Amino acid sequence: MDTILELKHLKKYYGSIRGIEDVSLKIHKGEIYGFIGPNGSGKSTTIRTLLGLVNKTSGEVLIKGKPFNPDDIEIKQKIGYLPSEINLYDDMTVKQILDYQQTFFPKDCQQKRNELVKLFKLEENKKIEDLSLGNKKKVGIVLAFMQEPEIIILDEPTSGLDPIMQNVFHNLLLQEKEKGTTILYSSHLLNEVSSICDKVGFIKDGVMIKEDFIDNINKENYTYLTISSKDIHKIKKELKCKIISEKENEIVFLNNIDPNSLLKILSKYQLDKLIIQEISLEDLFMNYYK
Ligand code: ADP
Ligand code: MG
Repeated sequence: MDTILELKHLKKYYGSIRGIEDVSLKIHKGEIYGFIGPNGSGKSTTIRTLLGLVNKTSGEVLIKGKPFNPDDIEIKQKIGYLPSEINLYDDMTVKQILDYQQTFFPKDCQQKRNELVKLFKLEENKKIEDLSLGNKKKVGIVLAFMQEPEIIILDEPTSGLDPIMQNVFHNLLLQEKEKGTTILYSSHLLNEVSSICDKVGFIKDGVMIKEDFIDNINKENYTYLTISSKDIHKIKKELKCKIISEKENEIVFLNNIDPNSLLKILSKYQLDKLIIQEISLEDLFMNYYK
């Protein structure tokens, strides 16, 4: 498969402040890549650094295998970008902003632009300052998609969109994917992107902690397992699970043993307490997985 976008050990410090420490990822043609991490973990910094909007401290950005030069207009025109905070000229109308955007591209964007304006029910004669946050976001989406770029970079694209529009937006992404567009989609919520992503990468404190296909991740069946027993030390040795917390005869494990095998092991011991709880994927990756 063709690798379209690759980051190799990207690092960005704002003076002495850590933006990102070490981010590597690879996105293939036609993939939707979910870039997941809590606020402050470095998603926007990764995106701004890869686009060359801020200078990287070290590392590499490759587009179609070649080092990316942010001054290369031809390549830049192939990338659509939706920033997390859109700054548009307040006293321009939606129409004026979209017309202005068109001037940067040799290709005629009119048809796609009309399609998008209709899809998102935008009123072109309204001034930007009169738009709600959600509607400004929609203008940002049209700006990122209207020139039909090969690569689309979306930084928390759905904040401010209502659930219906979020759905419209996700359908648009799936259509683009069908055409072979490659998409990087950052979000602080895994649930938001898990239904449309092929792959997800988790970033925490500026470091990528795990990357995998969404199908593999859904299969990893982890639970919290709380056991209290006078034999807890023997149980601990036999389960070999990661320990979340421990006190006297009670341990909370991060368990991924299948239920039947688990019952077989536990049935040999006298238990005082047994609690099995679901764990969200977010919780799993952000707190325990390394
Ligand atoms: P996210 O988008 O995941 O919320 P950011 O990339 O915005 O995370 O932030 C990562 C870290 O970089 C944070 O600690 C943030 O305070 C810091 N940071 C981001 N932008 C700047 C900046 N312009 N100057 C200094 N520090 C910054
Ligand atoms: Mg951000």
